[in-house]
Amino acid sequence: MASAFAHALAAMTVGKALNLKERPSGFWSMGIICAILPDIDVLAFAVGIPYGHVLGHRGFTHSIVFAALVALLLCRLFFRRIAPGSPQWFGQVFYLFICTASHGLLDAMTNGGLGIAFFSPFDNARYFLPWQPIQVSPIGVAAFFSEWGLQVISSEFIWVGLPCLALLILFKLFGAVIPK
Ligand SMILES: [Zn+2]
Repeated sequence: MASAFAHALAAMTVGKALNLKERPSGFWSMGIICAILPDIDVLAFAVGIPYGHVLGHRGFTHSIVFAALVALLLCRLFFRRIAPGSPQWFGQVFYLFICTASHGLLDAMTNGGLGIAFFSPFDNARYFLPWQPIQVSPIGVAAFFSEWGLQVISSEFIWVGLPCLALLILFKLFGAVIPK
């Protein structure tokens, strides 16, 4: 994983990139939850599911299919007032999808662990991006408060924090990527 902070920042940047007409209450928190949610699969370790298994860490919950299912489900549960199939609904589903999918993408840029099962459940092969500058984050809070954690924070500051900040400033100055 990249750390939860990096995933949350990516979600906020996605939210700003999409100039959606309306941002319903819970918009930002839902995006952040989506961006962090794929790491729920670390629970697999506790029940003895191996890392490389389809349900193991960086398996199905890091896939494109999972991102689509989560986006549809959360939109149904939490943005009920938006009519399914309406342009606003497509905007919200797209936002939650990109937030969730951004998780696997950032993880695929880390320099440790197994790769990401982007195409699970159809193909459980694990992939990294060709460019992996982000220091992989330890699993568990205790390990994060160590020298490793410091390396993660400084690497994420450079490779996630600064690009997101630059994008947020650009959106502020010139508007979002997808205009109203
Ligand atoms: Zn992850």
